[in-house]
Amino acid sequence: MSDEDSANSTARSKRGGQRSVAEELELKLRISEIFYSLQGETSRVGLPTVFVRLTGCPLRCTYCDTTYAFSGGQNMSIAQILEEVARRHARYVTVTGGEPLAQANCLNLLCALCDAGYEVSLETGGALDVSGVDARVVKVLDIKTPASGEVEKNLWSNLAVMTARDEIKFVLCDEADYLWARQVLRERGLAGKCAVLFSPAPGPIFS
Ligand code: SF4
Repeated sequence: MSDEDSANSTARSKRGGQRSVAEELELKLRISEIFYSLQGETSRVGLPTVFVRLTGCPLRCTYCDTTYAFSGGQNMSIAQILEEVARRHARYVTVTGGEPLAQANCLNLLCALCDAGYEVSLETGGALDVSGVDARVVKVLDIKTPASGEVEKNLWSNLAVMTARDEIKFVLCDEADYLWARQVLRERGLAGKCAVLFSPAPGPIFS
């Protein structure tokens, strides 16, 4: 079995095994918003993208700019989400949050989007297990820095399942965060693993 076959077999079992396609399409998620825009981050910056924002997040980063997604939203089936995405005619889809992986059916949604032929990326805060994510999805994984207030939540075992097509992102609040990120990068050999992004937190930082 190839690495990709093995990853997909893990993904299949983590998203609930033997459901029929029709049953999968009826699974529901809590959706904060679906919109079309240009990707503003990652290596896909500038690409026309449909964003599917899932409601809820177990973290509370100091710089969070999507607190409105912590609650509210509406329940939608995967079939309804696919319909909304299709109406916007984009090749790229980003599943984001909140923390998308906080909803178990997110794994099914990611798979359904890939099956529908989209180039799919997942933005995740790095505190939850990504091993069940479909191997066709580009994972964009945050590593939370000390100034985020959530550094203790980093699930370091996630690094073992990151591949060359994935991306790791540090959101930096100050110089101490930068020095910390540099050290993590060296100690864990991240530069040889996949693309690594340093992104400034919103607001004034380095003085
Ligand atoms: S993980 Fe993302 S959505 Fe959740 S609190 Fe942090 S910045 Fe906000």
